[in-house]
Amino acid sequence: MSDAKKVLVVFSGGQDSTTCLLQAIRDYGRDCVSCITFFYGQKHSDEVNVAKNIAAEQGIKNHKLINLDWYNQITTNALLDSSMEIAQDAGSAYPNTVVDGRNMMFFLVAAIYAKSQGIKDIITGVCETDFSGYPDCRDVFIKSCNATLNLAMDYSFHVITPLMQLTKEQTWKMADELGMLDYVYEKTLTCYNGIVGRGCGECPSCELRQRGYDAYMASRLKIEG
Ligand code: ZN
Repeated sequence: MSDAKKVLVVFSGGQDSTTCLLQAIRDYGRDCVSCITFFYGQKHSDEVNVAKNIAAEQGIKNHKLINLDWYNQITTNALLDSSMEIAQDAGSAYPNTVVDGRNMMFFLVAAIYAKSQGIKDIITGVCETDFSGYPDCRDVFIKSCNATLNLAMDYSFHVITPLMQLTKEQTWKMADELGMLDYVYEKTLTCYNGIVGRGCGECPSCELRQRGYDAYMASRLKIEG
C-alpha cells in the first residue's frame, strides 16, 4: 500500500461538491480520492444517479452510497415531502428546505467510513457565504463538528471546506481554473425540481446558481476583452 494521502469527498452531484471532487482529484490524485453519497429520501432521487455517473466518469474507484431513507420518519421539510412548496416563510429564519441535522448526520457517517478506510481528510462543499444561512453550513459548526468527531473516535480527522468563504461566482471561477466549467455547468444537479444542468431556472437554487454563473461569465469577458 502506498503512503499517499487519501481523501473522502462528501459528494451530492451538485455544483459545489462536484467542484470540490474535481479539485480533490487534481490535488490528491485520482486513485487517492474516494467519495460518499447519501440518499435520504429526497424527492429527486435522481441526485444519486447524477452523483454515480459523475463519479464513474471521473474514474473514482471507491464511491460509497449510503441509504438514510429513514430520515423522513424523524423530520420533514420541502426537500423530503413532495406536497410541500419550497418557500422562505416570512415568519421563519430559514427556508423550508433545511433538513435538520443533515450535515451532522452526513459527517458522522462519512467520518466512521473514512476511519475504516484509513482516511483522515474529509472534504465537503458547504459554504456559508451567499446562501440562506443554513445553520449546519456555518464554519463555526464545521469546526465544532470536526473537534467532536476527533473526540468521538480518537482520530485526527481534518474536515476541509474549500468553498466556505466563496461566492457562487468564485465557485464557477474555480471550476473554470480546473478546466471543467462546461462540465460542471452541464452535468451537475442543483435544481430543487430535479432538472440537471441549467435546471428549471425558477427555484431559489437555480436562481443562485445562474446569477453566479452570469456574474462570472461577465467578469471573464471583461478580463478577456
Ligand atoms: Zn430549479
